[in-house]
Amino acid sequence: MSHTMHFHVLTLFPEMVSQGLSESILGRAARKGCIELETVNIRDYTINKHKKVDDYPYGGGAGMLMQAQPVFDACMDVEKKIEMRRNAERTAGNAETAAGIAETSAAGEASGNDKDAACREKSPLRVIYVTPQGKVFTQQMAQEFAREEDLIFLCGHYEGVDERVLEEIVTDYVSIGDYVLTGGELPAMVMIDAISRMVPGVLKNEESAETESFCDGLLEYPQYTRPEVWKDRRVPSVLLSGDHVRIEKWRLEQSLERTRQRRPGLYEAYTRRDRAVSYLSKDRLSHMDMLEVIKRGQADVVRAEETGVLLYDRPSGAWMLSASDEDMGERLLSEIPRGKDELFAVHQSFLKESIARRFHRDRVSECMQAVYARKLPPACRARFGIRPLEAQDVDAVYENYHAVHSRDYLLERIEAGEMFGIDADGRLAAFAGMHDEGSMGMLEVLPEYRRMGMAEALEAYLITQQLEKGYVPFCQIFDGNEPSLCLQKKLGLKIASGRLYWIS
Ligand code: SAM
Repeated sequence: MSHTMHFHVLTLFPEMVSQGLSESILGRAARKGCIELETVNIRDYTINKHKKVDDYPYGGGAGMLMQAQPVFDACMDVEKKIEMRRNAERTAGNAETAAGIAETSAAGEASGNDKDAACREKSPLRVIYVTPQGKVFTQQMAQEFAREEDLIFLCGHYEGVDERVLEEIVTDYVSIGDYVLTGGELPAMVMIDAISRMVPGVLKNEESAETESFCDGLLEYPQYTRPEVWKDRRVPSVLLSGDHVRIEKWRLEQSLERTRQRRPGLYEAYTRRDRAVSYLSKDRLSHMDMLEVIKRGQADVVRAEETGVLLYDRPSGAWMLSASDEDMGERLLSEIPRGKDELFAVHQSFLKESIARRFHRDRVSECMQAVYARKLPPACRARFGIRPLEAQDVDAVYENYHAVHSRDYLLERIEAGEMFGIDADGRLAAFAGMHDEGSMGMLEVLPEYRRMGMAEALEAYLITQQLEKGYVPFCQIFDGNEPSLCLQKKLGLKIASGRLYWIS
């Protein structure tokens, strides 16, 4: 589903940003309504009569620092406006959903999840401080940010910004490279440009964003246009052959060679990823958790051999392992640094003992993995109003679902915009959500609301969302949870033959 991506830039030089982004492809995208740019002059929020926004740093040192108060007030004002816009959209969406439900029940037919999409969840706001001290911006980050509906950028100037306001408002610290610029405007523009290209509808030919450098971890192949001969240099003949299979093969070879020569680190990571995928694909269903974290770009492939793979999943901090023999298992485990060994998801039972011996971790939960392998969402007949959970729901969730996860974890999932619920009789009757490593789960229906189709509706909702993001939906069923197993089969998920052990 396409949406407008809203960029809000807090800056001392709004014209620099708005003028820089008003031309060419981004200008066209803004006119089409795919993106929207709002620049906010931090100076408008000063409360002193000279409109001063900076002052000397305590403790001495070169230059001036931007003060906390105007930055904070500017940010709060933007957040308030976003909240108002989102509420208005939600009200419009709910009205549409209600109309949709009335319409389908009159027709005696409930057709799926399309109307739920009308009142989609709104995730919490991300405030990005562009700073040389941040994580270096990559194509993967651009893809991740492009999934947001609003992004707030804070551009520093002079020597930077008072630390206290950063602690108060910033969710992400991002740099565009290891060099220092005079201000954050160019970095914000660089990031907005790269993110916008990922927003559906911005590029005319959406294909081109998918074949470019970095998308699959490789640099793009060389390209040529008319004339066929220029300064005695010919276009490679294969490109004139019309044979698309040969052309694709040539382009991949060129990409590989170019990446190997120009970016050896990138090349090494690509080949590791390739080896990992080829080992894991021997049993795709059983390894869907590992394949998906690789595909979603959230895992580091630490080691990949013909007989085993070790991944580190960054969001969950879990080490994910699969090995075809004990020897390889031991070798993979020896790569895990001490002190960073709290959570494991392993695919062979012999790894349980090794982990207990090496890391003294022996709390094991055994699961089966279920995978939704279809392209279209399940046709779910039950219709409920599904809403994103809010922080105040955490106690209701924790009260009914505390066997496995801490309250903090559940709150973190809610705040990440990854948990959803159904209300009945003025309270939360059912909920489900996405785990940080990407599986669907935390599904619970209060006893008095069971057998009404709420679980099915919630899971169908999650599956639809995952498919929209281009992911393969999967979940893990704890041993002995028969109702969950039945639900997975009913929704069309395939049960993998291999087991999965979570160890903490
Ligand atoms: N004193 C700061 C430090 O050493 O980290 C550098 C301040 S810099 C002169 C002024 C502003 O430019 C920063 O607050 C930041 O917003 C922006 N900036 C400079 N270099 C950047 C980079 N490589 N990536 C992102 N933002 C940058």
